[in-house]
Amino acid sequence: MNAPFQESPAKARPLNLLIAAPRGFCAGVDRAIEIVEKALERFGAPVYVRHEIVHNKYVVEGLKAKGAIFVKELDEVPADAPVVFSAHGVPKSVPAEAQRRKMIYLDATCPLVSKVHRQAERQIEKGRHIIFIGHEGHPEVIGTMGQVEPGQMTLVEHIEDVDKLPFESDEPLAYLTQTTLSVDDTREVIAALEWRYPKIHGPKAEDICYATSNRQTAVKDLAPACDLVLVIGAPNSSNSLRLVEVSERLGTPGKLVQRASDIDPAWLEGVDTLGLTAGASAPEVLVREVVDALRQLREVHETTVTAAEEKMVFKLPRQLTE
Ligand code: SF4
Repeated sequence: MNAPFQESPAKARPLNLLIAAPRGFCAGVDRAIEIVEKALERFGAPVYVRHEIVHNKYVVEGLKAKGAIFVKELDEVPADAPVVFSAHGVPKSVPAEAQRRKMIYLDATCPLVSKVHRQAERQIEKGRHIIFIGHEGHPEVIGTMGQVEPGQMTLVEHIEDVDKLPFESDEPLAYLTQTTLSVDDTREVIAALEWRYPKIHGPKAEDICYATSNRQTAVKDLAPACDLVLVIGAPNSSNSLRLVEVSERLGTPGKLVQRASDIDPAWLEGVDTLGLTAGASAPEVLVREVVDALRQLREVHETTVTAAEEKMVFKLPRQLTE
């Protein structure tokens, strides 16, 4: 248990705890972690990982303890050591450099991010400029923008950015999106793009992934009944931040916590019903840690609110299965 709480005098007052389902790990995160673990088994430690494999300190520390070494760039990796690329995806220049240096590399890019990469290539082949909806500086955005040549893709973060785009209404354009955006905000940005550029091409379904979308729906289902919603996730995890926003937009305060020790017991004053969820990179063990900590403060009545069933599993790279 991480920093247990003091026994609360208000423990007699029960707390209704609504736990969102689905929550926590998605298929892409499961696969990325398994790739690092299997690489450690196959090649032995150390295995290098370029960037945080997924945005969660607990996961990263666990893998470090097993022999993973996290680095920012490939030039920090010895030429004969295996290296894994993170689930967020990498610009094309990264595998190209690994090949040039004859490195052993494993790509843990989520297949749903890779799908967006392929769509970007296809749109460029068709002669269209791409408007990419995403958050500046996020590794997934850097990776996706790095699938095309500089100047072939323009980033749009907010609806207001659409008005500032320099393109004429009849120019050949396409849009794509980051996988972990707010479903509602993205719909608005797409509507603004389609209004300004009626001929713009888009994917058949938006690229926001099933896991992001299901976790947002689950928060929408429980937040109206809650006085507060806790989201377990990292401050640099896009999909976790969106879950806090979803709750707040429904009028229920949301708080992002990385672990139980981040919870200020004062937050629970006056709270009868608490919502709890976890971003796609937060493991279930942290959810149980938070529930255990809440049980030290209050008598907890736990209910699961299920928005969707998830059965998605992604295959491992062939290098690890042959
Ligand atoms: Fe893949 Fe979605 Fe998970 Fe990101 S959040 S790793 S896109 S399944």
